[in-house]
Amino acid sequence: MKRKKFQKKKTYETTHKKKKYQEFTTKCRFCRSRVDSVDYKDMHYLQKLVGSQGKLLSKKRSGNCTKHQRSVKTALKRARHMALLS
Ligand SMILES: [Zn+2]
Repeated sequence: MKRKKFQKKKTYETTHKKKKYQEFTTKCRFCRSRVDSVDYKDMHYLQKLVGSQGKLLSKKRSGNCTKHQRSVKTALKRARHMALLS
């Protein structure tokens, strides 16, 4: 005797869920706020992009685009030179 497996009926609503709110178009936080180049003096941004060991977070983790990741890298090096960051 075979048991009938319980199957949910697939409706249109389960397959095509509507988004409740519109998501950000870009992942990069600098592109969103329209910053062209990151300054070494704004510690507000730089401290968020540095891990617990003082290393710069990767592009994958921070979500920055390639252009801004490069400018963050130079800004971080300048900040380290000026002893703003360790
Ligand atoms: Zn960007």
